[in-house]
Amino acid sequence: MSLQESVAVLPGVGPKRAQNLAELGIVTIEQLLGYYPFRYEDIQEKNLLEINDQEKVTLKGVVVSAPVVNRYGYKKSRLQFRMMQDHAVFTVSFFNQPYLKDKAVVGEEIAVYGKWDAKRKALNGMKILGGKQPEDFAPIYHVSKAVRQNTLIDLIKVAFEKYGREITENLPDYLLQKYRLMPRPQAMLAMHFPKNPEENRLAKRRVVFEEFFLFQMRMQGLKQSERSEKNGIAIRYDVERLKRFTQSLPFELTGAQKRVTNEICYDLRSKKHMQRLLQGDVGSGKTVVAAIALYATMTAGFQGALMVPTEILAQQHVESLNQLFDPLEVSTALLTGSTKARERRVILEALANGEIDVIVGTHALIQDNVAFSNLGLVITDEQHRFGVNQRKVLREKGLRPDVLFMTATPIPRTLAITAYGEMDVSVIDEMPAGRIPVKTSWIKPKQLEPTLDWARQELANGHQLYVICPLIEESEALDVKNATEIYEHLKEFYAPDYQVSLLHGRMKNQEKETIMEEFKENQSQILVSTTVIEVGVNVPNATVMFIMDAERFGLAQLHQLRGRVGRGSEASYCILVASPKNEMGKERMKIMTETTNGFVLSEKDLELRGPGEVFGFRQSGLPQFLIADLVNDATVLEVAREEAEQVWLLDNWRELPEFAPLAAVVLPTEAGETYFD
Ligand code: ADP
Ligand code: MG
Repeated sequence: MSLQESVAVLPGVGPKRAQNLAELGIVTIEQLLGYYPFRYEDIQEKNLLEINDQEKVTLKGVVVSAPVVNRYGYKKSRLQFRMMQDHAVFTVSFFNQPYLKDKAVVGEEIAVYGKWDAKRKALNGMKILGGKQPEDFAPIYHVSKAVRQNTLIDLIKVAFEKYGREITENLPDYLLQKYRLMPRPQAMLAMHFPKNPEENRLAKRRVVFEEFFLFQMRMQGLKQSERSEKNGIAIRYDVERLKRFTQSLPFELTGAQKRVTNEICYDLRSKKHMQRLLQGDVGSGKTVVAAIALYATMTAGFQGALMVPTEILAQQHVESLNQLFDPLEVSTALLTGSTKARERRVILEALANGEIDVIVGTHALIQDNVAFSNLGLVITDEQHRFGVNQRKVLREKGLRPDVLFMTATPIPRTLAITAYGEMDVSVIDEMPAGRIPVKTSWIKPKQLEPTLDWARQELANGHQLYVICPLIEESEALDVKNATEIYEHLKEFYAPDYQVSLLHGRMKNQEKETIMEEFKENQSQILVSTTVIEVGVNVPNATVMFIMDAERFGLAQLHQLRGRVGRGSEASYCILVASPKNEMGKERMKIMTETTNGFVLSEKDLELRGPGEVFGFRQSGLPQFLIADLVNDATVLEVAREEAEQVWLLDNWRELPEFAPLAAVVLPTEAGETYFD
């Protein structure tokens, strides 16, 4: 007998039903036993005196009148009888369930679950609870048309009867003791059929811990196998040259920048394979940290690649790198989708023979057939936009460079250790000195005109404006003002004093670059744009940003956009133009006006919208947990991670008897099988 047997071995499960169960993800007995209800219905027996109108309750009593079925219309019927509880009599009716008649026998005690109608002193029955002792909690499962609640419940009961003894513990004993966790066999049963709410709470507590712990064990395993990679590269950079480089920067690094630079350099130097996530709020100065890492790599004779999501951004990064590096010392190149074929050939050749030290490009850079002479470091900016497949792509190409992921979307810690649990995390939690927080206000669309008038004072002081719009064209479905319309309007509004330009995603890259260039050179003072400027654009002279239909953006995105202003030393403003329809929308606008801290915002966003919305599971590689909840069970996640780390610190845990069951569920079974991918 094994839990791995197919559910088809259970009585009443033929090929058809097995197929229907498989559609719910239930193939083995173990999967059936682990198919937990998503909620429970409280069907504890209540007393007539303590219940309210329209409350769903279970009432126990003696049947005192013979059940009568009235049929009317096609297939419609009403079953009625009376029950008595402590001398009080009430009516019970069931609609369209005439067959229940046999279960109501005069003089016998039964329990009926239904909705109480206080005025009529009647119970609208939903079901008659079977057996002598009705369960207090009825499990409710996600089911399909082909598999009904009761069918599933019956199958699970049978499976427990036959296979319950096969359920074994998979956590080491010391963890059960330390956290007073319910043993696995008991917990699995109590997840389905708890004797009382308390037992169910304890079962759930155990299951949540187990889910997080097993996940973290696998993550830590992955981390270990990445680290111990024998062919990782030790990038022995030239300390003296690196020092000279940092001293040549136009500013002193912040304490946080120094700290993360040290963390990165340590990884570069060591032979272990770097997988590091660099988080830093917009404007915290990640680019210069990337530049230092790339420079270090170059001094050790290796090549570096910087990948970014858009061509504009790639262009801009090359420029700022060239400014920072002494161009004579570091040879850089730009490679994007719009690089001309001839130039492309030259660059590819120079890359292959090692003439290029640092290459900047969109992520196609890694995917295309690009050969490096000696790739040592890959940095990706705005990592979340790439998805999670780069490591795989790199591995498939036989490359094992150190990898640094940079992101300006501050990820709440709970999500970071889940989605990126196999990575080390560095955080820049300090802004360069002298920054004045962006002043954010929220206005209604009808206040737009006066606010545009107010902005004239900023323009008069020589500053520039961004106006951000969510979509480029009128769509029937969404009543969104399109960028072109706003552009036309603003051109008229500010004529003849100021120049307005328009930038949107449908333009050719060349055109986009020209427009960005003009804005940078202050040839135009107002830039109307769709979200193409979302990441990375650096025009310190722009001090005002209007965001139209701001309620359509996520908090993280609004924060990103807002980061485009306030990059200089002057006061700057972000104006959210929005008329949110509901409370949550209003709340989100309000939070934006109250904090400029990206971490606070993302925690809040997570609270308001949940991890699925904030992240998009597929894109982020964020796993879906069955029972555990990333928001509500955050503390358990932390504990589970710590414990998993502790286990992996024991070099030989895999050989220790007390961990044998754990190893069996956590470790890849087949040679060559990896944890993910
Ligand atoms: P991020 O990429 O993190 O959003 P950037 O690297 O683009 O931020 O830096 C934002 C601005 O701050 C740039 O103009 C950069 O030159 C400047 N900067 C970076 N580090 C410092 C520092 N330590 N002191 C002063 N200015 C800095
Ligand atoms: Mg940046």
